[in-house]
Amino acid sequence: MEIIEILKQLIRFKTTSNRSEDLSKIIDYVEEYFAKDFVVTRYERRKKHSLVVTYDESMSPEVFLVAHLDVVPGKEGQFEAVVKGNKLYARGSNDNKASAAIIMKLMKDLKEQKPSIGLMLTTDEEVGGMNGVKHLIEQGYSSKFAIVLDAGEDYNIITKEKAALHLKVKAIGKAAHGSKPWKGENAIDKLIDLYRELKESFSDSTKDDRWKNTISIGRIEGGTAVNKVADEAHLWIDMRFVSNKDKNKIKQLIEERGFEVKVLTDAGVMDTDPNNDYINRLKKCAGEVADKDIIFDKIHGATDARYFADNNIPAVMIMPNGGGTHADDEYVEIDSIDVIYKILKKFLLNY
Ligand SMILES: [Zn+2]
Repeated sequence: MEIIEILKQLIRFKTTSNRSEDLSKIIDYVEEYFAKDFVVTRYERRKKHSLVVTYDESMSPEVFLVAHLDVVPGKEGQFEAVVKGNKLYARGSNDNKASAAIIMKLMKDLKEQKPSIGLMLTTDEEVGGMNGVKHLIEQGYSSKFAIVLDAGEDYNIITKEKAALHLKVKAIGKAAHGSKPWKGENAIDKLIDLYRELKESFSDSTKDDRWKNTISIGRIEGGTAVNKVADEAHLWIDMRFVSNKDKNKIKQLIEERGFEVKVLTDAGVMDTDPNNDYINRLKKCAGEVADKDIIFDKIHGATDARYFADNNIPAVMIMPNGGGTHADDEYVEIDSIDVIYKILKKFLLNY
């Protein structure tokens, strides 16, 4: 089966995070694909299914290739691939099913040569990866290098990603009539004060330099009536950091102010040493196959690659070209699927 046929099949599964049956069915499909000649180990945690494929019983192949099979919600017609010229449109085409199809085909095509590799295919990246890649690594899987095919453009290699801290902060005040605010304690005021204080620790990212710590309020909620001093309020904050040290400092500051804090996400930075031998070889292979200069790039978001970084496994990201991720016109460029396949094959067979 060609990569594109595998991709079309994968797209038909409506694998949004709430549809655990489809998440199970797509893993059935992959399991079936590798039914002969492979070691396939299936996991399930909190209704999120995942799979590790290797050539032998080892839990520590030299290289892990990683992609995810879940998608963000899409419209009804988006779960059937539509090809227009070099573009294949569908929900999940680019994020991340083309990558999954590539590594599935590659694993099968290399079964004679048997390089020391393994695949991780998971179904919870869009909701944090805790029950996917993180869970798999906790089972004892490790490698010397990991390629997560979930970010990057023009075959450039991602070596850095920011840390992320998502918090829900609760403030408690004291209710009073709105005409006599001095008799109460306003919970919303407390959160506004906290936010102001926090903002002082962040400098604005400029047009020329976006590689800075950032803060964004995603949601705010509190109070019950216009004429009542709010006695409870909640603030959801999304903060991104270029270093773990900065992240931990802010976390501590919020805790010291006595708020009740719920940590929704606490992801460390990925900062892979670009002098690593695997990375340099991957760069060379990518440059030769794509016939261009490959640069080391960085991304602002947190991906499953962080779980490798957290466990001191050097990880990078590369993926086929595409666009419209999480939008209605998501697509992957068909010819770049082949380029990524060839880059990885060259890298894994070391020629
Ligand atoms: Zn993705």
